[in-house]
Order: sequence, then C-alpha cells, then structure tokens
Amino acid sequence: MLSTLSQIIFSLVIIATFLAFMIPVTYRIRIILKGKKDARFHHIIKRILDAITKILFQRCTLRRDRVWTGFIHLFIFYGALTFDTMSVNHILEGYIPRFYLFGDGYFGLFFSFIVDMFAVLVIVAVIYMSIKRFIIRPEAYKTTPLDSAVIYILLTTVTLSYLYFEIFSIAQHPGTERLSFIGAPLAQMVNQTGLSASALSFHFHFSWWLHILIVFGFIAYVPYSKYFHMFAGSFNVLVRNEGPLGTLEPIDIEHSEVFGVEKASDYTWKDLLDTFACMECGRCQDVCPAFASEKPLSPKMIIFNLKRHLLDNGKKYIAGKQDEIDALMKETVTEGEIWTCTTCGACMYVCPVEIEHIPKIVGLRQGQVLMESKFPAELNQFFKNMETNSNPWGIGFSERADWADDLDVKLIKDHPDAEYLLWVGCAGSFDERGKKTAKALVKILNKAGIDFGILGTEEKCCGDSSKRLGNEYLFQMQASEMINLFQKYGIKRIITLCPHGFNTFKNDYPKLLDLVPEIKKEAAQHFKDIQIFHHVQLIHSLIKENRLPLKKKTEQLLTYHDSCYLGRHNKIIKEPREILNSISEKKIVELKNNKEHSFCCGAGGGLMWTEESLGKRINHLRAQEVIDSHASTAVTSCPFCLTMIQDALDDKEIQDISAKDIAQLVAECI
Ligand code: SF4
Ligand code: SF4
Repeated sequence: MLSTLSQIIFSLVIIATFLAFMIPVTYRIRIILKGKKDARFHHIIKRILDAITKILFQRCTLRRDRVWTGFIHLFIFYGALTFDTMSVNHILEGYIPRFYLFGDGYFGLFFSFIVDMFAVLVIVAVIYMSIKRFIIRPEAYKTTPLDSAVIYILLTTVTLSYLYFEIFSIAQHPGTERLSFIGAPLAQMVNQTGLSASALSFHFHFSWWLHILIVFGFIAYVPYSKYFHMFAGSFNVLVRNEGPLGTLEPIDIEHSEVFGVEKASDYTWKDLLDTFACMECGRCQDVCPAFASEKPLSPKMIIFNLKRHLLDNGKKYIAGKQDEIDALMKETVTEGEIWTCTTCGACMYVCPVEIEHIPKIVGLRQGQVLMESKFPAELNQFFKNMETNSNPWGIGFSERADWADDLDVKLIKDHPDAEYLLWVGCAGSFDERGKKTAKALVKILNKAGIDFGILGTEEKCCGDSSKRLGNEYLFQMQASEMINLFQKYGIKRIITLCPHGFNTFKNDYPKLLDLVPEIKKEAAQHFKDIQIFHHVQLIHSLIKENRLPLKKKTEQLLTYHDSCYLGRHNKIIKEPREILNSISEKKIVELKNNKEHSFCCGAGGGLMWTEESLGKRINHLRAQEVIDSHASTAVTSCPFCLTMIQDALDDKEIQDISAKDIAQLVAECI
C-alpha cells in the first residue's frame, strides 16, 4: 500500500525503532552480565515448559492475593499478544497491499473477532488500572506514576488508532470486514456519510501511519519502563530458583576475596536480572510482615532502588570501574532495611516474576558482618555465645542434655545403632517452652516404639541463625562439626524439633559438602544418605500407620500457625492439619493468613536474637489473627513461633487462648 519512496522511509523508521529499542536493552544486558556466575539452565526443557505454562496461562499473576488484578493483567497480556501480532501484519501490509496474515478462512474470521474483542478488553483494563493507581492509590502502587500514565496512554492510543485504521480500511475495501464487530458497523456509518474517495484514502493512509508510529514509539519506550518486565520478567521465570524459597547459596570462603555483597557486582547475574524484571506491582510489599509492622523495609523498594543504582552506575560497572562506585549500604540500601527482614519468604512466594529478595538481603548482611563487622549491637553477644557455648543464650554447653535428666532417653554415643537421631536443637534443650515440646516428643516416640537417641552435650547449634544473620563463616564451622559428628556415629535418620534445623539440614548443609575443606570426604558422602524429618512429618506418618495409641480427642478449638520454614519454604502444609483434625473433636479454624500465605511470627532470619525496636511488633499482628479466629489454642510446630505467639498473647493479656506445639497436643491425646 506504500509507494516506493514511502517504503524506503518506512524501512528507515523500522531500523530507527529497532536501534532505539536495542541500545537501552543492550545496556541493561551488559550490566546484568557483570554479575557473578549462577547456574540457572539445568533441566532446561522442564524450565521452558514450566515458564510457558506459567506465562501463557498467566499462572504468575492469577493468584488468590489479587484475583481481579490478575484478570485485568490477563486482558492486557493477551491484548498485547494480539496487537503485537497485528503489528507484524500492519508492517507487512506496508509492503504488500491488503496483506492479511490469517487468510480468509475460519481462522482469519476468528482472529478479526479476537482483535476487536481485545480492543474492548484493553480499554476496560486501562480504565480499571487508572482508577486503581490514580484514584484509589494503594501503597503498593506508589512508585513511578508518570511511567504508569505513559503506559496507559500508549495502550489506549495504540488500541484506538488501530480501530481508527480498521474502520477506514474496511470502508476503503468493502468485503474485508470479516467478524470485526467494531470496525464493520462503524465503517458502514463512514460510508453512509458520503465521504469522498480521496478523503477515505487519506484517512486510510493517515490512520495506518498513525497506528504504526504509536506502536514504534511504544516499542522504543518499553526498555525505560516497568513494562520491560514482559521481556525480563519472562526470562526471569525461565531461570527461576527451582529449590525451596529459603535456599541460600554458601560462600566459597577459601576462594573468595569479598564475602557477601558490598557492590552490585558481588550479586549474581540472576540477582541483577531480577531488578529489571520487577513490574512494581507491590505484591511483595503487601505481604511483608516487616512492612506491615511499619519497619523501614519494603521488598519492592529494595529491588526498585537496586535497579536505579544499576542504571545510574551502569557505565562504571560495564567498564569494570567498581572502585568508583559507592557500596550499596552507603546510599542504596539502609541498615534498617536489611536488619528487619525475617527471611519469611512471603515476598518471594507472591512475586509473579520469581524475584528473589532473601538472597539479596542476606548477601548484604554477609557483607556487613564479614567485611565491615557492622551489625546490631545485641548480635555481638549472640555471636560470642555461639562461638563459646554453641547456643544463642550462652548457657554452658554441658547443660545441653539436662532437660532429659528425668527421662529414659539414650545417648547416641551409648546407642549408635539407633534408628533415629532426635535433634533437640537449642530451644528444645534450653528454653522452658521448647523443653516441654522435647519431652512431649519423647513421649510420642516411646509410645510408638521408635528407637532413637540424642547427641546430648555433643549436639551444637545447627547454624541457621548464624547463616541468616550473615555470619557464614560461623555457620560453616558449626555445620562442618555436625556433619563430621553424624558420620562418626553413623546417623541414618534425623528427626528435628524445629523447622529451622530441618531446613538447614535439608537445604543448607548439602550445599557445603563439596565446598568446605573442614568436612571430611567420608562425612560428606555419609551425609548425602541421611534422611531428615521434621517431627510433624514423623507424627503424621505414625498416626496414618496407626502406630500411636490415641486414647482421646481434644475438645479445644484449634487453629494452626504455619511456620514460614516448614510451610512456605518446605511445603509441609497438609500434614499438620491432618494431625490436628485427627486429634480434635472440632474441625480446626484457619487464621486469616494461612498455609503458603502464612504471616511470620517475627523470629525468623535470626531476628529472634535482635531487639524489635522499630514499628509495631510482628508477633502482636499475628497474635491478633489468632484472637480473631476465636480458637482456644494456637498450635505451632516451631519453638520460635511458640515463644513469639505466647509472648504476644501474654503482652495482650489474653488468658483464654494458649499456644502449644503440635507434639504437646498429640502427647496429651495419648
Ligand atoms: S522475606 Fe519476609 S520479611 Fe523479608 S522482605 Fe520478604 S516478606 Fe519481608
Ligand atoms: S518484586 Fe515481584 S512482587 Fe515485588 S513489586 Fe516487583 S514484581 Fe511485584
């Protein structure tokens, strides 16, 4: 439809648009490639299939936390795909008169209907999003309003200019209306106005140019906008973390010069890609317990500010002039942000584009602790206690097995053939509430005839808090000692009392086996065959196999608080509910935030050992959910959660609700 001269001009416009898009995209790719190595392409076929289903079926945004917005995103996503396809058609039409990509068959008819349908849906979506972002203005949406406005204007003008073109294309070429239910009647109206042939031709050509120039303007704008997530976000879904959410890569202490993160180039390329994948939806901020309790942390802003830092300093990163760039903790991220994260993983769980917040925050903690010796003052004592007595309170390590004095519990050193090692953990050994859980679990194991033993005074902290507080050096020392000890006694199976120990053994220790020289080769090999269970899993299978003589059911109305490290991080969600329903007369009631969407108690990420001096108390927010549930007992399966919830109930002077570990309740029913 274009003259030869117009075709030449059009070709130059295409090249200019391509360059306008590729130059900023290349800049971003070069920044991302400055990140450290990270193997993210294993199981590539599975990754591709997962990514395709996640993206094509929009499983990433159609989630229970924002169902309506998910649907609206669906309209924009499929609208964009449809109009992208039509843009290819539009371009080819410039060179081939009356070109139509889909022919005159049924598919051509169908597609003409689809295009008009999405024209309507995109406009609906833009109206909905504009009302939400500019009138309702939730906290989660408060970044880059200008960018949002530009995107909404571009989406609207692309759609309307397409309809303008469609109307005059049909009016100019009667018989091409197919199933265009918007274009066809309006074209008929245009023809009825008696517009001259030259006027028709003018509108036809003008609308064609107008539409394609707006589309090209949109393409050139995308790299500068959060709309870039449609490329970076899709790729991010492909290279997502396939392991549990809370998995943290270890530091290779032997071969690293920088421990943790000081500058953005200390992050992996995936970490840097994350920043460009963010669509600024604020879902992560909405579910963050630190943000909800008015701490200075928003996971969204961590990612947003990192992106700004990268774009501002990209040229220096690309040129390898890291020395000229300020450390991230100087201007980009604050101490208040990194030391208030509970590593609960709620942010990562809801992120539609698989952004990983926890490794970024813990990486910065590692940099602060290991390179700068900067951390909250109270952690001085914590680290010292860990180094001297291997427990957070600094109680003499010789007292570690005192809780079992009046029980018939064997020591592994006297009974190395035991089927299970009961890993009591620091809370089970020293904390009064934790000891009650340990004793209840011993009762359960004895009743079920389980052959087990404990390490007694040879047990030391598993290292979870040290690791998540950034002291990787201390963690690796603690882990090496325990892995060697497990091999010394030929441990085959471990039951943990605490989700943190469970997660650490299951997900953190395996990453050290071929890395840490202090771990003996045979101990590393031995550890690979050890089976790890949390006590919820064991109790669940004992009940299922009828190996526990349950004599009565509790009359209390129960609710269950999912610990982040058992539920969200390790997907142990249905087992505790099945246990509770089997020992209760009444069906358990759910808290407002439950299962994978559970709300943290406030103690994870090592924050059990820091002062919660900023904002409200996270455990108070969670305890309020317990109160609102009208349950009489809040059941947990984590000694930290137990302490946090009971303390919050006590602070609120609630006497008719108590917190118990699931093992205690089961033991009461035996
Ligand atoms: S891990 Fe939890 S506390 Fe930390 S940023 Fe994410 S949601 Fe907030
Ligand atoms: S990090 Fe994920 S959840 Fe948070 S604003 Fe960005 S895209 Fe949304």
